[in-house]
Amino acid sequence: MPEFRQNQATKEWVILAPDRGRRPDEFSREQKKREPLPSYQEGCPFCVGNEAETEQAVYTYPETGNWQVRVVPNKYAALKADLSTTRTRVGSFLAAKGFGIAEVVIEHSRHDTTIGVMEVDEVANVLGAYRERHFKIRDNDKINLITIFRNHGPRAGTSLEHPHSQIIATPIIPPHVRYPLEQAVMHYDEHGSCVYCDMVSEEIRQGERIIVDSDNFVAFCPFAARSPFESRIYPKRHMASFISTSDDEVSELAWVLREVLGKLRHGLGDPDYNYVIRSSPIGDEDTRHLHWYMVIIPKISIPAGFEIGSGIYINTVAPEESAAFLRMITEGR
Ligand SMILES: [Zn+2]
Ligand SMILES: [Zn+2]
Repeated sequence: MPEFRQNQATKEWVILAPDRGRRPDEFSREQKKREPLPSYQEGCPFCVGNEAETEQAVYTYPETGNWQVRVVPNKYAALKADLSTTRTRVGSFLAAKGFGIAEVVIEHSRHDTTIGVMEVDEVANVLGAYRERHFKIRDNDKINLITIFRNHGPRAGTSLEHPHSQIIATPIIPPHVRYPLEQAVMHYDEHGSCVYCDMVSEEIRQGERIIVDSDNFVAFCPFAARSPFESRIYPKRHMASFISTSDDEVSELAWVLREVLGKLRHGLGDPDYNYVIRSSPIGDEDTRHLHWYMVIIPKISIPAGFEIGSGIYINTVAPEESAAFLRMITEGR
């Protein structure tokens, strides 16, 4: 029976219309096999030895000797750092110069690896780079929002095979981000608690959508998941900003993230995916009503006319089923 479900935090609705004829393991057969990659690819600007082909690194880990992680300004950035944020009018329409900071996080010196198969401490080094850059970029007083994300594969928006993620910092907080923030304020006013903390405890209490549960983090397919296998990782303690994550928490998150991505990779045949870290806007790092999290969206379904028209997503795999399937995947990374 189809069902409407509401996301408690954003108030968005989804339709759950499970396709009974389709079992989760069928998704893996539908994935195109990826060609095996070489560990070094000539002409790849992100490979070790080709450092001169990128802008100068703003962060390198380790700082000396062979690097694992390098963060470089994005050569092909949609936004530029040397512009003003003054709004202008085009007739009655509002515009501004394309100011922003765009960086590429080269996650590994090797061409043929990815987060889902890296060693846990290597993943922690990548997350450590995110945290460090987030921390530094927020010093720019024109920046209001920092979005850290990873596109894996062509359906997720990248044709570059070398493992990398991106950071884009903008002066603008768009309605897509602003609206959930306002909802979180209202929830706090009404209940005196963080809506995300409440959601996390309810997911843990119900239990059937949990993928991985560690001391300080929990990964689950949310009650109102918009697409098959949509997964989220939340810190259990209240933290509005990703920069408040401790070193130990970064290591633990690395384990949880690799676990979830490893399960998606092995269980679903290495699907393309996006992940995003949603963290509080700059200046809201200590608020009681916001809570950072990671959302991982395998590119299994594509938003079509109804989704575009209504903003209501139709999910054909119940998150309970997605989570049960992912929990079962234990080996083969
Ligand atoms: Zn490469
Ligand atoms: Zn919270």
